[in-house]
Amino acid sequence: MHGLSPDDLDIQQRARGFIDELIPYEVEAEMNDGELPADVKEKYEARARELGLLATNMPKELGGGGFTALQQVLVQEQVGRATNALGWMISTPPQWWPEVATEYQLERWLLPTVRGDMSECYAITEEGAGSDVESISATARREGDEYVLDGVKWHVTSYNEASYALFEAKLASGEHAGEHAMFVVDLPSPGVRVVRTPAYSHTFAHHHPVVAFEGVRVPSSHRVGDEGGGMSYSYEWFRFERMMVAARCLGAAERLIEEATAFANDRVVYGQPIVNYQHVGGMLADSATELYAARAIVYDMARGIDEGRDRKVQHAQASMVKLYASEMAGRVADRAVQVFGGRGYMRENVAERFFRELRVERIWEGTSEIQREIIAGQLAKRGVRQLA
Ligand SMILES: Cc1cc2nc3c(=O)[nH]c(=O)nc-3n(C[C@H](O)[C@H](O)[C@H](O)COP(=O)(O)OP(=O)(O)OC[C@H]3O[C@@H](n4cnc5c(N)ncnc54)[C@H](O)[C@@H]3O)c2cc1C
Repeated sequence: MHGLSPDDLDIQQRARGFIDELIPYEVEAEMNDGELPADVKEKYEARARELGLLATNMPKELGGGGFTALQQVLVQEQVGRATNALGWMISTPPQWWPEVATEYQLERWLLPTVRGDMSECYAITEEGAGSDVESISATARREGDEYVLDGVKWHVTSYNEASYALFEAKLASGEHAGEHAMFVVDLPSPGVRVVRTPAYSHTFAHHHPVVAFEGVRVPSSHRVGDEGGGMSYSYEWFRFERMMVAARCLGAAERLIEEATAFANDRVVYGQPIVNYQHVGGMLADSATELYAARAIVYDMARGIDEGRDRKVQHAQASMVKLYASEMAGRVADRAVQVFGGRGYMRENVAERFFRELRVERIWEGTSEIQREIIAGQLAKRGVRQLA
């Protein structure tokens, strides 16, 4: 199905088998603030490595998997089938970094991240700057061969697990004052502190704290790219990550439809399996149809990347697949809760967990409204025939 090659199918099967082994731990994680027992976590981190599922997005020369975009999507789709972010053990280092990394950055951070010995977090969003990243107020002030970083960042995902943060700030002085730059900050570092760790709708071991960076000094070798080089590499990251959000939403929807269909076949009410009632069957049919449509566009986009499709078109299509797949998965989760009835409202039920967890897919990596803005902008410039 979907024209996958034998290699693609092998990769898909490896990732699927891995996630199938993690699924039985979901309820335990849900009841334990998202945490798995340390021995289980260690076992599966090692297993993900053995199976060649780490750093699938990194070039082979750097020790990564060198997977095609479609193969990366196939892996992330499986990652999306598990709740509580258990599949995040299959980590993907910053996609954009190899192109701009200095030799020092490569040795110090990127290669250990590819090996799975280090991991990153992104400190970009602020209280007053989310959708509009241009309006961040964090600053980087040059002093000799160092920068002094200041700013308070929100929702710093995986800060509690990370070895370093990628901190975005505006240059405070010099020829490129006011322009954005990214810096690597080791964790922990003097001047970096957690302000608070808010609770979120989902139950993940990866937290999203508010983190203050106060007078943090880093050598200029920690700056990513040149001053004034712009942040064009971050567009690469958006394309990648938006497509991967969409891929994980496919996996979540598939799991929900599978589980809800099995339940609807088994559950007998008024003498009949509920799947026979058209109001129930219709919810499953709509969900399967929407999943099919979403999968077709996500796979098409990935194939487009592999075939070298125009980058601006890719940018618009990344927004389209993220928008459609995240909204599709939200509808599927809502229907799945309904099919399960009262059971669907219990935290031990997969539909209840996904109902909460999938909500953020419409918010992070650019909200649905921002995706629509991007799509409309590209549509106005290029016309529908290029985009769709
Ligand atoms: C769980 C979680 C994890 C996250 N992880 C990270 C992370 O690791 N690192 C990081 O830097 N950030 C992270 N974020 C931040 C995330 O990317 C932002 O929340 C998101 O981009 C939206 O920004 P905002 O919350 O400030 O909303 P706002 O920008 O304040 O938007 C509020 C509302 O206004 C709408 N809106 C804004 N502008 C427009 C417009 N031009 N047209 C139409 N509607 C508009 C939005 O769509 C939204 O509905 C995370 C967020 C969450 C919830």
